[in-house]
Amino acid sequence: MTTENPKVGFLGLGHMGGPMAANLVRAGYAVVAFDPVPAAQDQARADGASVVATAAEAVAEADIVVTMLPNGRVVLDLYGEILSAAKPGTLFVDSSTIDVADAVAAAELAVAQGYRALDAPVSGGVAGAAAGTLTFMVGGAPDDFAQALPLLEVMGGKVVHCGGAGVGQAAKICNNMLLGISMIGLSEAIVLGEKLGLTHEKFFDVVSTASGQSWALTSYCPVPGPVPASPANNDYRPGFATALMTKDLGLAANALAANGVDGQLGQLAAQIYQRFNRDEAGRDFSAIVTDIRTRSEQEQA
Ligand code: NAD
Repeated sequence: MTTENPKVGFLGLGHMGGPMAANLVRAGYAVVAFDPVPAAQDQARADGASVVATAAEAVAEADIVVTMLPNGRVVLDLYGEILSAAKPGTLFVDSSTIDVADAVAAAELAVAQGYRALDAPVSGGVAGAAAGTLTFMVGGAPDDFAQALPLLEVMGGKVVHCGGAGVGQAAKICNNMLLGISMIGLSEAIVLGEKLGLTHEKFFDVVSTASGQSWALTSYCPVPGPVPASPANNDYRPGFATALMTKDLGLAANALAANGVDGQLGQLAAQIYQRFNRDEAGRDFSAIVTDIRTRSEQEQA
């Protein structure tokens, strides 16, 4: 272990937080970790973290505290619980995906008590968390970003300072809103092509190099065949689960409304995924193409 590394408190050792904390340990950071779920504790212990019984203990000696939690309510409640337990000047880095307003509120809570704070949500999923190749989108003060950068680079392949408090979350929900909309649009075009006699292979051949090209098609094609690594080839096992896309689109829809943006497609995408999520929360979000196909068949019958 290198002595110059800051001490890390890590809270939330789930699908994402568990492997992220493990990567910090592997890189020589002393990680004191907490999660209420025994299985997550056991895994973190096996990965070499020092697991403690309370969140307050995990932050007591930390220079940097990383949180990777389910939602904004949990983040704000936990900040309320742990802030007074940390040393003065501790840097709080929240990597959960939460509402922009909650991210700003969490940062304000920390700063009001003499701490420093960044929002640093990620994309790249569980595979990126395990491989240490996440993309971090960071909001907060430049000095705080500079302090967190080496640690974020252990867990991520790309780290972008997006702006002030909450602007990292803004980047995350803008990107995922666009991804949700483009996956729905692509899926509608694929199903229309099917009806008109266009095979998936020919659709891909044309659209992947034409003006309708998108990441959703060329890297994550929602039908089996053209992109062998996409979840469509694996019975739509995630990947990026519909439940998570639905959550992110809900955050985007809230932000559209709160900021007076005429985001009709963003709102509609949130509704479409909410409906799909009722039965298919665990399937990859690209399985929306199967829903569009089924509903189209029902409509014709
Ligand atoms: P998860 O449910 O697997 O993990 C969350 C963990 O937080 C759980 O282990 C839970 O026990 C723990 N937790 C809850 N309350 C706590 C508390 N008070 N103190 C400490 N730990 C607590 O979720 P996940 O998939 O790891 O996602 C975490 C965050 O990352 C979410 O905000 C999610 O939207 C975001 N995210 C997930 C993915 C993904 O592919 N899973 C991708 C990008 C972003």
